[in-house]
Amino acid sequence: MKSKIDSKLEEKVKKLRELINYHNYRYYVLDQPEISDAEYDRLMRELIKLEEQYPELITPDSPTQRIGVTPAEQFQPISHRSKMMSLADAFSFEELGDFFDRIKRLLDEEEIEVVCELKIDGSAVALTYENGIYVRGATRGDGETGEDVTANIKTLRSLPLRLNIKDFPEEIEVRGEVYLPEDKFIELNKEREESGLPAFANPRNAAAGSLRQLDPKITASRPLNIFVYGVGYISGTEFKTHWEGLQFLKKAGFKVNPYTKLVDSFEEVIDYCNEWNKKRDTLPYEIDGVVVKVNSIEKQNQLGSTSKSPRWAIAYKFAAKQETTKIESIVVQVGRTGALTPVANLVPVRIGGTTVSRATLHNEDEIERKDIRIGDTVIVQRAGDVIPEVVSVIKDKRMGKEKKFEMPTRCPVCGADVYRPEDEAVSRCTGIACPAQLRNHLLAFASRGAMDIDGLGRAVVDALMDLKLVSDVADLYYLTKEDLLKVPHFKDKAAENLLDAIGKTKNRPLAKLLFGLGIRHVGAHVASLLAKHFSSIDKLHKATYDDLISIYEIGPKVAESILFFFKQKKNLKVLEKLKTAGVRMEETGKTAISQKFAGLIFVLTGTLSSFTREEIKDKIEQAGGHVSSSISSKTNYVLAGEYPGSKYNKAKKLGVRILNEDEFKRMIEG
Ligand code: NAD
Repeated sequence: MKSKIDSKLEEKVKKLRELINYHNYRYYVLDQPEISDAEYDRLMRELIKLEEQYPELITPDSPTQRIGVTPAEQFQPISHRSKMMSLADAFSFEELGDFFDRIKRLLDEEEIEVVCELKIDGSAVALTYENGIYVRGATRGDGETGEDVTANIKTLRSLPLRLNIKDFPEEIEVRGEVYLPEDKFIELNKEREESGLPAFANPRNAAAGSLRQLDPKITASRPLNIFVYGVGYISGTEFKTHWEGLQFLKKAGFKVNPYTKLVDSFEEVIDYCNEWNKKRDTLPYEIDGVVVKVNSIEKQNQLGSTSKSPRWAIAYKFAAKQETTKIESIVVQVGRTGALTPVANLVPVRIGGTTVSRATLHNEDEIERKDIRIGDTVIVQRAGDVIPEVVSVIKDKRMGKEKKFEMPTRCPVCGADVYRPEDEAVSRCTGIACPAQLRNHLLAFASRGAMDIDGLGRAVVDALMDLKLVSDVADLYYLTKEDLLKVPHFKDKAAENLLDAIGKTKNRPLAKLLFGLGIRHVGAHVASLLAKHFSSIDKLHKATYDDLISIYEIGPKVAESILFFFKQKKNLKVLEKLKTAGVRMEETGKTAISQKFAGLIFVLTGTLSSFTREEIKDKIEQAGGHVSSSISSKTNYVLAGEYPGSKYNKAKKLGVRILNEDEFKRMIEG
């Protein structure tokens, strides 16, 4: 029986090792991990636990005993002066406490001075300087042998190629972390995806991938940066403490992280970890934890190291920001402004202490750019208070059954058509009665530049909605005193005042009503142009695309948006309700008489005898024309009165037709 369990266990350990080795290869060699770091860490911990329970199962080639992976063959190998180690992890303050207890016990000391450093999420390098000159740069590789990336590292602008001190050592090997600033990482991934290349899962893989290029020109094009955090070897000098070494590096011209701190109690370490866990999102680069190092070199030597990591240092890892999970479905949410946002429903996953089951996919273009499909295995990220988002797709996990997402053509909330202008990424609902947008529609309708309903502010709008007294803007005109008395704090007087204020707006100019309808791209100015040209909602409703774009200042985007608005049956219903309630639906007074001047641009100059400037402007606009203040080749006519100005000469020069007052009168009358 026992031997059966053993072989099962052995098989399990073997499988686990194979799996970890596979992920190591993807991560360290290809720079394309397939699982999140958190998931990888879980696999590793499972293996460590099994090996601790059954030490006889440990093999020298187990990933728990090895650092990184064998360097890739494309690069020349470089042997490190001393081993470039990995770091032992602590995933909780308890584990960090265990580390402190252990070193205190081993050193037989009460308190120990340590240096706290930010754990930069990048790629480790060893840089050799001979006689003060940079001669060699290597990746960590398997810890003993790294890859020669000398030329690539030379492209890092923040790295001194010559030490900035007079009495430099004959040889020094400096250790540091090459990283890609977060904004550059986002830029790089955008570029890659646009040119059909797979995106990097995180800045660390992007940094490693950029560093491990066979062509240094590619590395040079990536804005890599570096922080150094230690001396691997130095000839002729010995530092007493790690801190002293860091000060030396700073003086020699290296970038040492400015938040590095020397502390002498465990409590201070906890404070440092808490502080940076909170502030990590404020840094322009990624950190994934805090590295704690014993300060005294003598004590470091006393503690020594295991085959994989030093006993005098530990990496306290922050809760993960990324996890691997699966997209179960994609739904579409409609925001207050009518914007449609695709959202992924995920197989729930714990990220940084919270269960995440949804992630935003932003918009159609983002889905296409990242090639996200329903059923895909994805890396999801949660950073700070930002809504979780899908970072990338693990395409190798596709089984062939994944489905492409299609943006609905109708609003999932109200059924109105969805409209997306060609040059915009966002699709929008065109329904004025869409419940998702009701609050915004009511507020816009009541606003001063629109219907100007006195007393209809946010609180009242919210109450009307909560009480389900309105489901579109027209309902405002059907409210009774009884209805309004249900609004919190509303007494007789307040109810009467609001009813009165709503009633008064029935006679607002057409332009104000048009603006209040909240048609996309129809702001106050466009609304007044439309009111002048069409003089009634009915006429605007009947306008064709050509009618609309023949109006000066109305382009295809506005025209399309207006047509979409009037295509929605529910929108027409709201308009009908407004009409029935007695809301003025047409322009009185300045009514457009004809479309005689449609699309024509006039420029006025000099003094006219039978019209004021305002009158003539109205006449032109009522006939569908436009008055411009300056002359260009687009001008159709210059109407010149007595004592014309320089515009007259310019019109002559440009060959623009000049009309006198009589000619104009004949034109408009005839
Ligand atoms: P590590 O990243 O946990 O720690 C060691 C490294 O920390 C050093 O080599 C150095 O590069 C870096 N570092 C940053 N700041 C430092 C500082 N101030 N002082 C010293 N070192 C500093 O260990 P590792 O062996 O490089 O990598 C293991 C980790 O890599 C795993 O925990 C996992 O998160 C990730 N990994 C993920 C996958 C995957 O498939 N997702 C695969 C392999 C490894």
